[in-house]
Amino acid sequence: MYKSVIIGTGPAGLTAAIYLARANLSPLVIEGPEPGGQLTTTTEVENFPGFPEGIMGPELMDNMRKQAERFGAEFRTGWVNSIDMAQRPFKIQVEGQGEIVSETVILSTGASAKYLGIPGEQENVGYGVSTCATCDGFFFRGKEIVVIGGGDSALEEANFLTRFASKVTLVHRREELRASKIMQDRARSNEKIEWALNRTPVEIVAGEGGVKGVKVLNNATGEEEMIEVSGVFVAIGHNPNTGFLNGQVTIDSNGYIVVNPGTSETNVPGVFACGDVQDTRYRQAITAAGSGCKAAIDAEKFIESLEHSAVAN
Ligand code: NAP
Repeated sequence: MYKSVIIGTGPAGLTAAIYLARANLSPLVIEGPEPGGQLTTTTEVENFPGFPEGIMGPELMDNMRKQAERFGAEFRTGWVNSIDMAQRPFKIQVEGQGEIVSETVILSTGASAKYLGIPGEQENVGYGVSTCATCDGFFFRGKEIVVIGGGDSALEEANFLTRFASKVTLVHRREELRASKIMQDRARSNEKIEWALNRTPVEIVAGEGGVKGVKVLNNATGEEEMIEVSGVFVAIGHNPNTGFLNGQVTIDSNGYIVVNPGTSETNVPGVFACGDVQDTRYRQAITAAGSGCKAAIDAEKFIESLEHSAVAN
């Protein structure tokens, strides 16, 4: 039986692992299908303190993992199907690995890319539709592509994709961008980026050989327009990964885990949450790491209180 099992290996989960391992609690860390989380699908990270020249996302995550391993965190790869939280110790069912039992659980499963839900989208994922510029940008060398979204992710992806594409058209459903000013300035000064604002994507059109373009509704004229491109990058945000909890942990209307304010405690004593799976507001690597630290300290205190009550009895 483990004292603590951490589910998810983004900055939150790995920071929790470093803290718990250094507290001699030998945590087990379960890595899901996207080890390292969202930062492994990004390029240069310029705002994580301690790296004045920036650091590549995958390298940062690899370093965090090595740091956790150095202090004795154990790693296993597997898909968590469910957790029985009816009583402690908690029973975690991991695909192909059976049951893992633990006194505490730290949920750091992050969030996954959102899709538009328009015709032509799902059937062309991997054939011209992508949610990961770092993974797929290379396939669009010298081609014209569209990036959809108006937040920091969309603008960052658009800028990055100009390394490969001959032209990037940014499609956003409103006139105003949600992205930060620095991102907007960067994108506005990039000559390879064109703007299709106030346009709602309605269909991704594909034919033989993959994507041919995106049909958008011009919200000003009410007319449909076709933007001919061979690649579409959807960058409209993320959904928290909470499906496997089966309603045992309180979640909000958007699916994010609710924690007691200022802590990582969920409604289930001994179950803690950190990182993007519980963060609707900041969603930064550094805030995820900070919340992972809080979860580890909360779990440590919880384990300590169990040990004290066992001695007292
Ligand atoms: P976001 O800020 O939630 O932006 C999502 C964008 O997609 C919005 O512009 C939204 O339009 C649009 N959108 C959402 N659903 C849509 C739909 N169904 N159809 C068309 N458009 C849709 O998400 P994000 O850009 O992924 O950023 C998430 C967080 O990470 C933010 O806090 C951001 O600052 C941070 N981030 C930071 C960096 C960085 O600093 N390097 C990089 C990436 C992300 P509306 O504006 O109309 O709602």
